[in-house]
Formats: sequence, C-alpha cells, structure tokens
Amino acid sequence: MCLSYKKMAAMVLVLGSCILTGCAKFFPAEKQEISAQSTSHSREIFAMDTAMRVTAYGDRAKEAVQAAEEEIKRLDALFSVGNASGDIARLNENASAVVSGETCELINRSKELYNSTGGALNIAVYPLMEAWGFTSGEYRVPEQKEIDAMLTCMDVDEISCDENTGKVILPEGMGIDLGAIAKGYTSARLMDVFVSYDIASAIVSLGGNVQALGNKPDGTKWRVAVEDPFSEEGDSYAGILEITDQAVITSGAYERYFEQDGKRYHHIIDPATGYPAENGLASVTVVSQDGALADALSTALFVMGKDKALAYWKEHADEFNVILIEDNKDMTITEGLQDCFSSQNPFLVEKKDQ
Ligand code: AMP
Ligand code: MG
Repeated sequence: MCLSYKKMAAMVLVLGSCILTGCAKFFPAEKQEISAQSTSHSREIFAMDTAMRVTAYGDRAKEAVQAAEEEIKRLDALFSVGNASGDIARLNENASAVVSGETCELINRSKELYNSTGGALNIAVYPLMEAWGFTSGEYRVPEQKEIDAMLTCMDVDEISCDENTGKVILPEGMGIDLGAIAKGYTSARLMDVFVSYDIASAIVSLGGNVQALGNKPDGTKWRVAVEDPFSEEGDSYAGILEITDQAVITSGAYERYFEQDGKRYHHIIDPATGYPAENGLASVTVVSQDGALADALSTALFVMGKDKALAYWKEHADEFNVILIEDNKDMTITEGLQDCFSSQNPFLVEKKDQ
C-alpha cells in the first residue's frame, strides 16, 4: 500500500510548486495533467472567512463558475454569524426568526447528527466560541463558571425548526453556529450548480475542504492531498487520495488556535466539557459523496477520539470513510480508502468486520 520514499519525494516536489490553501488540498488543473483541449475556468474567491478556489471544465465553464461564486456568496450571507441580516445572525439576536428553506434544512440535519454522534456535533457551541474569543479574535480562557453556565444551554433537541413555515425558535440562552457543516453543505450545492450548467468535471476547495464532480476531463481520478497536521508551514502531506464524485473534508486542531501560558487552545469544542477537544486526534479527514455529512463528521469524529470515531464509522460505513491521524502521529484509514490512498508514512487499515 505505501509508496516508496523515492516515489513520494517526487510527488511532494510536484505538490511543493502548487498554490495551496487550507487543509485537504487539490492539485491545480495544470498539475493534474488535464488535456489542453478541455475548456476550463477557475476563480479564487474569499468568502466564509476563508480562501476558496472553484474550477470547472466544459463549454459552459465560465458561466458555471460565475454561478458558483454567486451561490457561495448567497449561502455565506445566510449562514454567517456576523452578517446582521443573515438567517443565523437574526436567529442568535432574537432567539426566533423565519429563515430560508436551506437554513431550516441545515439546522434539521445538524439536529439529526447531534443525536447520531452522541452530541459530539453540537451547533449550539456559539456562546462558547464567543467566550473563547474565536468569533472576535480576543482570545481568552473562560472561567469555569462561565463554561458551566453555557453547557446548560446546549440541548440541540430543544431547537424547534418548522420546515413548512421556516420558523425557528431557540431555547433561552442558546446561540447557534453552522461553522462545522456550512462549507461542506456549500460545496455540495456547488456540485448541483455545475450539473445545471452541463458540467461533468469540476473541483472546488473551500478553505481546503475539497469536493469534486466526476473525474478529471481526461477520465482519470482527481488527486487530493491530505495535509500533514504536524507540518509547521502547512506544506507537507500525510498522503494522497484519488477520488471521483466525492468530498474530502478535514478538521484539525492546527487550523485555528491561540496559545496562553504555553498551552494551545484550538477551535473545535468538546460539547461535554466546553473546552477544546483533546481526545488524542491531530486531524480527521472524512471522504464522502455527501459534502455536508463529510464536514459535520470531520468535526464530530475529531471530538469523539479514535475509538468512538471508528465505532461510529462501523455503524455508517456505507456513508463515508475516514483518515484519522493521532497526536502520536499514528495514522488509520478505513477499508473503503484502501485502494485510493497512498502515503510515505505507515498506516493501519480498519476493517468493518474486525
Ligand atoms: P470544522 O472546521 O468543520 O471542524 O468546524 C469547526 C467550527 O465549527 C468551529 O470554528 C466552530 O464554529 C464550530 N464548532 C466547534 N466545535 C463544534 C462542535 N463540537 N460541534 C459543532 N460545531 C462546532
Ligand atoms: Mg466540519
């Protein structure tokens, strides 16, 4: 399974010359060796607090990329906690609001995943995110009594969200944040946008969260690099995935953090403690056809830690696969990735029936 060191060194050389952002990265078109005959269009966009890149191939690539940008901006405006007229900001401000069908859908999906992940995915983390300073950049370690008070307002089951009327009601003291799922939902929507422009081949990277439509125009698979969570510069790779029609979404402690008194505090909160999750994982990369699911689960499995994450995968192996990298650098992939993942580092393969 593992590539020899020499083979990998050549691959890193190719990767080293690419423009890359975020965690899971894809080779730009020219590095993917795409035939010159295919018409392509690519655009860089800054939205959802992150750098994005959208590329489509086909006769209508330019129109499709324009529509994709409009879709990203529309969804960003709806979901952003900082856009006063957006659905989520209005909801957090007034504890109730009539929201769009998409916001309702995403809240209800998050409620289902809150239950299936045993509360590891919890969109009611917003007050905690504020208290830790992740929303303002004014980072601090909150007092235990503040955290304790917030933990009492995080029962996502209590959110009422009526898909017929669009009316959402939050229980007192609750605030929500779709940051764990919104980018994956958006990348999935972009695939629909591309299809509506007759595009069969496209790839997007939303802050390193990648989703691909079809194969490359030459019919070969897309090659997506998974970042090494221990790389200081963010420029080395834990391995390469070869994918068709899938999302590759990573959550890691290294993505956003601050340090205080020599300790690092990152942005993925364990809803059981109110503190950044410390369950032995350095990064989680989820591979799925469903972008929203991949995003939500990358966050939730990171919170769960390896054993619970693999147990969860065994129950849902038909929906996704995952690469877990531990703080001690051990790497485990689930069996569905066996034929499409390569790495210079050793890794274990988790089987569903073991
Ligand atoms: P991601 O980068 O997809 O792992 O999402 C992390 C973001 O999701 C954070 O910046 C928060 O906005 C939010 N978040 C943090 N912890 C959780 C959690 N346990 N459940 C749901 N959302 C979370
Ligand atoms: Mg996520």
